[in-house]
Amino acid sequence: MKIGLIICARYSNCGGGKCFRALRERHGGFARYAPDETVEIVGYSSCGGCPGGNVEYVPVEFLKNGCDAVHLATGLVVGYPPCPRLRQFKVFIEEQFKRPVVVGTHPIPLKYLEAHRRLPFWKQTDMEELASHLMTESRELMKSYN
Ligand code: SF4
Repeated sequence: MKIGLIICARYSNCGGGKCFRALRERHGGFARYAPDETVEIVGYSSCGGCPGGNVEYVPVEFLKNGCDAVHLATGLVVGYPPCPRLRQFKVFIEEQFKRPVVVGTHPIPLKYLEAHRRLPFWKQTDMEELASHLMTESRELMKSYN
């Protein structure tokens, strides 16, 4: 399986520790891959900053390396604020590049999820639906990603 990762530009200095742990341990957005399945990262970039113009271009590079699927990093789901364009990114990439887009990389850190659920705007986002597979992971696992 060859994947490309797109992260939120607000976290472009991130060291990637949570994402790479999740890939190794098959958590979060990577839980869909079997433990013995080889998953290769063939491209990695940020969205380029709001409004995310890089999303138009980086999948081209991913595809040149044989990309099978694109992951939008968990920072888009539970950053402050959540990315308002996540759904558009997913629909655009799937339509334009004919590759599935998985919402999420590492599990949602529990403290972030709890903070968001207390905020009045959280329900106005559709993150609970878009990232439903992340919402149902165990609290213990989420806590381990705090
Ligand atoms: S909020 Fe969305 S568009 Fe803005 S920098 Fe983050 S991922 Fe990019």
